[in-house]
Amino acid sequence: MIIKVLGSAAGGGFPQWNCNCRNCADVRRGVGGLVPRTQSSLAVSADGLSWMLVDASPDLRQQIAATPELDPQTDGRSRASPITAVVLTSADVDHVAGLLSLRESQPFSIHADPRVLSALAASSIFGVLGGCVRRLPIPRNEVFEPEGCAGLGIEAFAVPGKVALYLEDEGAGPGLGTALGDVIGLKVIDGLSGRFACYVPGCAAVDGGLLRQLAGAAAVLFDGTLYRDDEMIAQGLSQKTGRRMGHISMSGVDGSVAALAGLDAGRRIFTHVNNSNPALREGSPEREWVEAAGWEIAHDGMEVVIR
Ligand SMILES: [Zn+2]
Ligand SMILES: [Zn+2]
Repeated sequence: MIIKVLGSAAGGGFPQWNCNCRNCADVRRGVGGLVPRTQSSLAVSADGLSWMLVDASPDLRQQIAATPELDPQTDGRSRASPITAVVLTSADVDHVAGLLSLRESQPFSIHADPRVLSALAASSIFGVLGGCVRRLPIPRNEVFEPEGCAGLGIEAFAVPGKVALYLEDEGAGPGLGTALGDVIGLKVIDGLSGRFACYVPGCAAVDGGLLRQLAGAAAVLFDGTLYRDDEMIAQGLSQKTGRRMGHISMSGVDGSVAALAGLDAGRRIFTHVNNSNPALREGSPEREWVEAAGWEIAHDGMEVVIR
């Protein structure tokens, strides 16, 4: 099984179009140690021929163009794509907007939690996909094969998180209307060996249930949005903490590095990294701290091979 990181940034990408934070300003100027990143998504294949996407970022068109494996097949058909399925981990704009780039009468299947499917159904703009795109509910805690992807298994599990920003209900109390299934993580399983990777691009907290899901993974690709919970406030970018946005931070006593320190897992990779995160900068103390703890920072085009 091959996992290609199509995009490794959080919503907004890196640099973000309107952002003058230190990272965004420096990457625009070509300062060393910083590499641009598109918004998070994966392509996964067991055989290198048919591919599943995990999330459809607003940068999907550019990501497909940068990935020769996702080029149309040259078998004489006028319209052909090796992408047969898209699995969604939430209804966040940075995870679903790319579906709009997949219009053009190409049959494929969207697999998502019923909560996310209802959010898509409520936005008539996704009707542009037409009847050739099937929308299939994901069973939770049960392995299924994504359409057209023989040799791959997916198992979804609920993750502590927050409903998509545009669906927040301020009147619904501290949870803002969040319900089970609004944010899921995925076990992506190589059917031949049974070995698996876990993909959790959004996570508000690590609890015992999540630790059990991640245990034994050959690779964990995890929410690396922020380094510090208050970093966006400290940089004058936003009034929101990571907690308010539904994202655990890397550092701190209740951060992800500490929470996952004892986990039995292979590669540990942060992805969905926000442009404000100082760990994006190679050689920074924050990057060195994360790497010393055994973590990698994903970059666009990164490959994780599991056999
Ligand atoms: Zn996101
Ligand atoms: Zn920025």
